[in-house]
Amino acid sequence: MTDKPSQPIIEFSNVTKRFGTLTVLDDFNFKVAKGEKVTLIGPSGSGKSTVLRILMTLEPFQEGRLALAGMSYHEPNGKGPFKASEKHLHQIRSHIGMVFQSFNLFPHMTVLRNVVEAPVRVLGLPRGEAECRAVDLLAMVGLADKKDHYPSQLSGGQQQRVAIARALAMRPRVLLFDEPTSALDPQLVGEVLSVIRGLAHEHDLTMLLVTHEMRFAREVSDRVCFFDKGRICEQGEPNAIFGAPKEERTREFLQSVL
Ligand code: ADP
Ligand code: MG
Repeated sequence: MTDKPSQPIIEFSNVTKRFGTLTVLDDFNFKVAKGEKVTLIGPSGSGKSTVLRILMTLEPFQEGRLALAGMSYHEPNGKGPFKASEKHLHQIRSHIGMVFQSFNLFPHMTVLRNVVEAPVRVLGLPRGEAECRAVDLLAMVGLADKKDHYPSQLSGGQQQRVAIARALAMRPRVLLFDEPTSALDPQLVGEVLSVIRGLAHEHDLTMLLVTHEMRFAREVSDRVCFFDKGRICEQGEPNAIFGAPKEERTREFLQSVL
């Protein structure tokens, strides 16, 4: 896949998403450059998860167009709700990894198998090779010694680090994090943020992060987008958004969380 340097890796164009009569994204436009680290903040229900879930092809949308690395999710002349062939969805998904609030590890598989399974089944990697890579990734997240454990034997922070290793095993170009530390006890948040901080240094990896950890967002993001009611109400460099927000809604929100 070849991208022109100027072409965004992610582009939502006039995307409208409804759940029944509720419009969650209304004529939504959003571009992300390759390698950019973008944090989405905003009140609960403002549409942040929906943006990530649409990107991950977990949700259809009704209007507009979305492109990932030049592949379109919705034909420019397409009519009606978004539909794509399984092959097309498979291709899109192979570029994106997602880490959820609730870890979502396979409980009946060891840590190693959790990381190995998708590269073997989806990418067709030989199991031995996938295992070597998995061991490296587990070492990277500080869990080399836990590879034969089951998820239930790990703390929440450890499980989330396995989930990150599992996402990375697919070599995604885009990594999505949806409140990766919100389900963790406070003392376990740091170990997960420190893994994400390491990934934020990877120049080519594009990252979208939804978080309520504002200090962390300020530290790792190139850009912060404040969501309100299905729109980006304000966006900019972290120092501008956190230091001198222009919109009243942004100021109110930041006061409520900081
Ligand atoms: P956020 O992540 O910013 O908290 P979401 O994207 O999860 O917000 O949700 C945006 C809105 O869409 C909310 O009003 C939520 O209740 C609604 N919503 C999300 N998922 C569904 C669903 N599967 N069915 C109906 N409404 C939904
Ligand atoms: Mg959410």
